[in-house]
Amino acid sequence: MIAFATHVTRTRFRLAKLTASALVFSPLVIDSSEFSRQGRVIEGTVPLAILQRLKHELLDAEGDLSVRLEGWQDNGGKCGLRLAVAGGVRLRCQRCLEGIDLPLDIGSRFQLIRPGEDWPDDDLENDEMDAIAAEKELDVLALIEDEVLLALPIVARHAQCQPPQTAGIDHGSSPFKALAVLKKH
Ligand SMILES: [Zn+2]
Repeated sequence: MIAFATHVTRTRFRLAKLTASALVFSPLVIDSSEFSRQGRVIEGTVPLAILQRLKHELLDAEGDLSVRLEGWQDNGGKCGLRLAVAGGVRLRCQRCLEGIDLPLDIGSRFQLIRPGEDWPDDDLENDEMDAIAAEKELDVLALIEDEVLLALPIVARHAQCQPPQTAGIDHGSSPFKALAVLKKH
C-alpha cells in the first residue's frame, strides 16, 4: 500500500513537470464509489510518456491521450465508471521494424463491486461491461493504461512491408541496424 502511494505521488510530479498549462487529467486517484454516485466527470490529457508499462510497447512515447472518465449509477443501485480514451500510439512493425501508427478510440464501461456484493456472472460480459472492485483509492492511470494495452494488436505489422534483411541488399548497413534494434530488447 505504501509502494502504491509513492508511485502515485511520483506520477503526479511528472505530470506537473510535463505540462505547464494544458488541461491535464487529474486527479489520478479517485474514491470510485463516491465518484460514481455523484456522477462526476474528469476530462483531460494524459502524456504517453508517464504510462510506463505502455511505453515498453511503443516505438516512441511522444504525444498525449485524450481521456474522459465519467461516473454512473442506475436505478437498481448499481454504479460504475465509463472511460473514453482517444488518440494514437506508434508501435514498431514486427516485420520491417519501422513505425506503425495505431489510432485509438476506446470506450469502456465498468461496474463497481462493493465489499460484500456478489460478483456478476458471465451475463455481464455479454453486456461489454467489466466488473472491478470498488476501491476507495482507485488508480485511474492504471485503469487507463490497462485499457490501452488491451487495445493493442498482439503482433503489430504493416499490411505490406519488407523485412529489413531484404531491403539491405541495396544498402549493406540495414541488417546491422536491424540487429542493433533487436539487441536493445
Ligand atoms: Zn512493416
